[in-house]
Amino acid sequence: MTTFQNFIGGRWVAPSTGEYFENRNPAQHTDLIGRFPASGVADVEAAVASAVRGFARWKATPAPARGDVLRRVGDLLAARKEELADLMTREMGKPLAETRGDVQEGIDTAYYAATEGRRLFGHTVPSELANKWAMTMRRPIGVCGLITPFNFPLAIPTWKAFPALLCGNAVILKPAEDVPHTATVLVEILLEAGLPPEVIQLVHGMGEVVGKALVEHPDVPVISFTGSTETGRLVGETCGRMHKRLSLEMGGKNAQIVLDDADLDLALDGVLWGAFGTTGQRCTATSRLILQDGIHDAFIERLVARAAQLRLGDGRAAGTDVGPLVNAAAREKVEQYVAVGLAEGAVLRLGGARAVGGALDQGHFFQPTIFTGVAPGSRLEQEEIFGPVLSVVRVRTAEEAFTVNNGVRYGLSSSVYTRDVNVAFRALQQLDNGITYVNAPTIGAEAHLPFGGVKQTGNGHREGGWEVYEFYSETKVGYVDYSGALQRAQIDNY
Ligand code: NAD
Repeated sequence: MTTFQNFIGGRWVAPSTGEYFENRNPAQHTDLIGRFPASGVADVEAAVASAVRGFARWKATPAPARGDVLRRVGDLLAARKEELADLMTREMGKPLAETRGDVQEGIDTAYYAATEGRRLFGHTVPSELANKWAMTMRRPIGVCGLITPFNFPLAIPTWKAFPALLCGNAVILKPAEDVPHTATVLVEILLEAGLPPEVIQLVHGMGEVVGKALVEHPDVPVISFTGSTETGRLVGETCGRMHKRLSLEMGGKNAQIVLDDADLDLALDGVLWGAFGTTGQRCTATSRLILQDGIHDAFIERLVARAAQLRLGDGRAAGTDVGPLVNAAAREKVEQYVAVGLAEGAVLRLGGARAVGGALDQGHFFQPTIFTGVAPGSRLEQEEIFGPVLSVVRVRTAEEAFTVNNGVRYGLSSSVYTRDVNVAFRALQQLDNGITYVNAPTIGAEAHLPFGGVKQTGNGHREGGWEVYEFYSETKVGYVDYSGALQRAQIDNY
C-alpha cells in the first residue's frame, strides 16, 4: 500500500502528527488507494512560512513568465488526461466520461491563465488636472489558502490555484479528505512544469484541523473556499474578524423549468443529465424540476421510465451511467431526505433506497430517486441533498415557475426550456441565479466565463473567466504629476 505525503518547504514530507487516513474507492470498499497525511496545525505553520518565502520570489517573476509555467501545466495535464481521469474516478466515483471532463476543465483553465499572463490589464484614464497621468495596475496579494470540495477533484483546485499563481501569489492547497490523490498529482505536475517549489504547498488532512488552521493563520491574507454553506459560514466568520479577502462558493438547490411549449425530448435529456450525473453531487445539480401543468403528467411518465433504465456501477466500467455516492455519510444523508420527503407527503415515483445486489454491495450506491407533488417551501424542496434525488413541483404559469425557482436561499444555476423567446429573456432577467441556461440543463459552465451564485450560494465573487483575476490581485492606482507645480484635485479646477 502506498503512503503519500504533504508537499511543504519544497519537499515531500511526513505530517508532524505521524498520523495518516485511508482513502478508499467509493465503488468498492476493499480497494484501498493509499494512506494520506492527517496533518496538524504545525504542518500548516510550516507551509505558511515556506509560502511566504515562495511569494517573495514568485511575485518578482514577470507575469508572462508565470503564464509560461501554466501553459506547460496545461500540456502536462493534457498528456496525462486518461491517467488522471482513471485515478479520479477510483477515488471519487463519477464515471470516466465525467472525470475526463473534469481534467479538460483544468486544461482549459491552465491555457486561459497562460494567456492572461500577457494581459493582466490595468486602466489608463485621463486625470482631471493638466499634465498629470492616472492609471491602475495589478499587484499580487500574498499567500492564498485554497480549500476545496470532493466533487470536482481537479477542476476546482485549478480554478483557484491557476489564477492565484498567475497573479503572482503563493498557494497552499487543502483538498477534500475524499480526493487527496488527484490533488497530489496536480502538485506533481505544477512542479514538473517548473513552478518554484516554495510557491506551492499541499497540506492534507481534516477540514476542522487543517482547513481551520489555514483560515485562522494571520499570514494567509486570502482564502478561497468551495464547499457547503454551513462550513462556508464558519470560514466567513473567521475571515471577517481577521479582515481577510474571501471568496465563498457554496451550496445550491438548482431548478430546471419545463414549460408547455418546450421541446420535451430535449428537456428530458437535460434533466436526466442534470439530476443524476455525478450522482447528483454537483453544486449545479438539478435538484428541482418545475413542470407546467399541461405537460406534467406525460413528462413524468417518460422521465420515470428513462431514469429507471440508468445503469449504476463502478465509474471505471464501460456502460456505467451513475456511480456511487462519495462516502457512507453522504448515502445516509440521502436516505434521511427520502424519509423527510415521505413524511412531508411527497409521492415517491422512483427509487428511494440503496442500490444493492452483486457488485453494488461493495459501494455507496443509491437508486435514482424521483418525488412528485413536492410542495414549495417543504424541506425536500428547500434543502440541498447532494445526491440522486429529484423533486418535482407543478405550476400553472411561467411566472409561477420563476417564483418557485427564486423561493430558496440558494442561487447558483437555473434552466428554462421553452420555444418562446420572450419568455426565455424574461427568465434570464427574473431568475435569481448566477447562471441561467436556456434549453440546456443546469450544468455546463465553461472555464472562460465567470462562475458563481447569488444569495447564500456565494459572497459576490466569481470563479473562472476574467473576474477571478480581480479576486487574486490588488488594484493599485498610480498618479504621476509632471506639471512641476502643486495641483490640488477637486479644488484647483472648480
Ligand atoms: P464541505 O463543506 O464538507 O468541505 C469542503 C472543504 O472544507 C473540505 O476540504 C473540508 O475538509 C473543508 N472543511 C471542513 N470543515 C472546515 C472548517 N471548519 N474550516 C475550514 N475548512 C473546512 O463540502 P463537501 O462535502 O466537500 O462538498 C460539497 C458541498 O460543496 C456542497 O454543498 C456543494 O454545493 C458545494 N460546492 C459548491 C460549488 C460552487 O462553486 N458553488 C462547487 C462544488 C461544490
